[in-house]
Amino acid sequence: MLCLTFLGVGSAFAKRNFNSNALFEYWAKPWKGKVPNKKPDDTMLVDFGATGPAAFYKLKEEPGYEYLKSPGGTNYYPAIRRVFITHQHADHIGGLEEMALMNTFFYKDPKSGKPFKAELISTINILVNLWDHSLKGGLNTIQHRYSLLQDYFFIRALSPSNNHFSIGPYNFEIFATDHIMIERKYDWPSYGLFVKHEKTGRSIFYSGDTRFDYPAYSRMMEAADQCFHDCQFFDQDDAVHATLNELRTMPDAIKKKTLLYHYGDNYDDPAFKPALGEFKGLTQPHERYVLFDGE
Ligand SMILES: [Zn+2]
Ligand SMILES: [Zn+2]
Repeated sequence: MLCLTFLGVGSAFAKRNFNSNALFEYWAKPWKGKVPNKKPDDTMLVDFGATGPAAFYKLKEEPGYEYLKSPGGTNYYPAIRRVFITHQHADHIGGLEEMALMNTFFYKDPKSGKPFKAELISTINILVNLWDHSLKGGLNTIQHRYSLLQDYFFIRALSPSNNHFSIGPYNFEIFATDHIMIERKYDWPSYGLFVKHEKTGRSIFYSGDTRFDYPAYSRMMEAADQCFHDCQFFDQDDAVHATLNELRTMPDAIKKKTLLYHYGDNYDDPAFKPALGEFKGLTQPHERYVLFDGE
């Protein structure tokens, strides 16, 4: 059983919603009802941005998320076994420094003194740039010594020839997204996820940050049971996110199974209601979406 909960569903600059970061939870034995009766067997965050720690702090108070809370009442980061990074913008990586430092100092193994390390998953180019250009400033020294990314995380580097990983029976395949382009499409690395249950063939599509590019994603979106797609409400020349009006040009059958996320603070403007009605809806923060309910 695989569930998905968004820590936040907002755009990079949204203030009413947290950044679009998401928690995947896997249980080997499915549960029924609204709230799981036990903590998941595996967990993975997809991105952990600047508002991630505050969103996590709030989520841990919701029913069924108690395992995210430490005995002292704060964020229990060792509950997160893996973190997948879609790309390097701050709304997707800005919380990693806090997670790394808390896992190193608060949640280290009391006997060995070794930090708790989550598995950090992304492509090799993102991981190198993530350290060199983002995390190194705050994390390359700890008291009396220098440190490296691998002091804080187990690193799993993906590449075009090794573009997937598994959680239980679910295969997570990454695909390049057209988010920011320097000179050519895909020349600045950013990724989405196509998650497939190997036995049943059922799947879900998670766009990551991307411009509208239905021709590139149509095969996956047609196959998927549910789609989660980046959306900005306003039209813009040379946008770096998919606009609502562009997304409306997708076939009805695709729209009806697509939940939109990464949206602005004006989501309750009644003017959007007719357009949003063409879709499955807006993704809601802190709601547990059951992606696959079987074993
Ligand atoms: Zn973003
Ligand atoms: Zn972005």
